[in-house]
Amino acid sequence: MKMERFDVVVIGGGLPGCFSARELSRLKLEIVLLEAREDVCTGVSRANTAVVYPGHDHKPGTLKAEMTVRANASFDRLCEELDVPFSRCGSLMLSFGPRSDAALRKKLRQGRENGVPGLRLLSADEAYRLEPTIASGLSSALYASTAGTVNPWQLGIAACENAVQNGVRLRLNTRVIAMRRENDDYLLETDHGALQARAVVNCAGLAADRVQGLLFPPAVRIVPTAGDYLVLDRNSVGKPTHILQVEPEEGEKGLTVVPTVEGSLLLGPTERENALDYATTENGLAWVREQAAHLLPGLALDGTIRSFAAVRPNPQRQDGSSIHSFCIEHPAERFWSLIGIKTPGLTCARELGAFLARRLAEELAAEENAGFDPVRRGIRRAHGLPFEERKALAERDPDYGEIVCFCEDVTKAEVLEAVRRGAVTVDGVKRRVGTGMGRCQGARCEQKIAALIAEALGVPESAVRKDGPGSEIVRAAHENV
Ligand SMILES: Cc1cc2nc3c(=O)[nH]c(=O)nc-3n(C[C@H](O)[C@H](O)[C@H](O)COP(=O)(O)OP(=O)(O)OC[C@H]3O[C@@H](n4cnc5c(N)ncnc54)[C@H](O)[C@@H]3O)c2cc1C
Repeated sequence: MKMERFDVVVIGGGLPGCFSARELSRLKLEIVLLEAREDVCTGVSRANTAVVYPGHDHKPGTLKAEMTVRANASFDRLCEELDVPFSRCGSLMLSFGPRSDAALRKKLRQGRENGVPGLRLLSADEAYRLEPTIASGLSSALYASTAGTVNPWQLGIAACENAVQNGVRLRLNTRVIAMRRENDDYLLETDHGALQARAVVNCAGLAADRVQGLLFPPAVRIVPTAGDYLVLDRNSVGKPTHILQVEPEEGEKGLTVVPTVEGSLLLGPTERENALDYATTENGLAWVREQAAHLLPGLALDGTIRSFAAVRPNPQRQDGSSIHSFCIEHPAERFWSLIGIKTPGLTCARELGAFLARRLAEELAAEENAGFDPVRRGIRRAHGLPFEERKALAERDPDYGEIVCFCEDVTKAEVLEAVRRGAVTVDGVKRRVGTGMGRCQGARCEQKIAALIAEALGVPESAVRKDGPGSEIVRAAHENV
């Protein structure tokens, strides 16, 4: 049988992988995106702090600083093109003492040198006027008007859909297990057959070091750490309206608080060494609660609707020293790896993709794809439409008249469109239309969504999972005892 041949194979459908595929589709190339799981954006790109950073956190002159400032400036346009909600709510970095004051002054200088617009060092009074929810004792605050927040998985899925629209082939449930070079090409063996490519872009997230190691020894290895988060319901009393980041006076870590685009409040994360699991810890969640109660005394923590853990892919040199810049390895011609892309990888996903696309355009002597269309339309939402418009929509398509998720006001039509666009799990639907993100966290709609997925895909309900393997929602009849 003839082996499939592509110009570029992108490994890994996280944010950088989806954006690499999208940016590469601006070129006249045959591209395939391989993702080991049943959907894109189920790994690091799913669980993170969701902040679009302004760029004052990074050393002047570094790639991170340069990319973050550029990415931030173009985020409104990117989100318009991809039809993804983006809130430029601004951030306050908070100091409660002299050491942190000095750190904020340094970040201000750094930010100005990096060209970050809208940065201001505020006195405590000025900061309280902007954000009255903060506890007393504030010493100073660094305000960044350009900071914002986006739903990370919505952004990644949108980039992936746009890539596919522009000709990228998406292969889900396809894990790369071996690689070798043959003549001038790369041969990739997957658990669903082999393929051949002129170039490889490795964006395999937590496995990126091992994936590169299938062919070239990586100079960097990934050491994972985990962190816990809490999510509070959008109706919780005492929510701030800005992103808040505590610059710790003592200790390693300060709390980050994010008013999300969905209206909920995200609090976290903690830092747990050498952990590669997504289970939350009692200590971690207690720390988040304690810090939140200190920082926002009026915040009703009984509005907590969810907790989750995230895993960071920390890049380390083989001698054990940490790496703070983006690790972009180029061990051979036409082979690129992004290894251990931590914060601000969400902010810079498009920039990273564009960087790789520019390099590969040179190496492959690729021409521009004149037909590239940057615009992707999201799923038509019923929520928020004026009554008459919503009524008309339901008259044209009765599925728009049937609400499935009552907390987030999502209709059957939206759920079915999510499935049509690739969702095969209950969480896949959630990532596309926000079902189960509200107060009841899916308690009322999960089963109905599983039934809709089963019907649309023509599979038994017992085959439908909430998320990863083993998370089936109902048992098959013969399994019931
Ligand atoms: C705790 C935390 C908070 C963060 N907060 C922010 C923030 O606020 N703002 C910001 O800008 N950035 C933030 N980031 C950074 C951002 O989330 C990451 O940079 C980005 O999501 C990394 O994506 P990735 O593609 O490298 O990994 P992933 O999203 O995990 O994607 C890698 C994909 O590769 C697939 N894969 C693995 N092996 C193979 C294989 N052999 N074959 C095929 N597929 C494979 C996996 O299944 C996975 O889907 C945060 C990160 C963390 C961990």
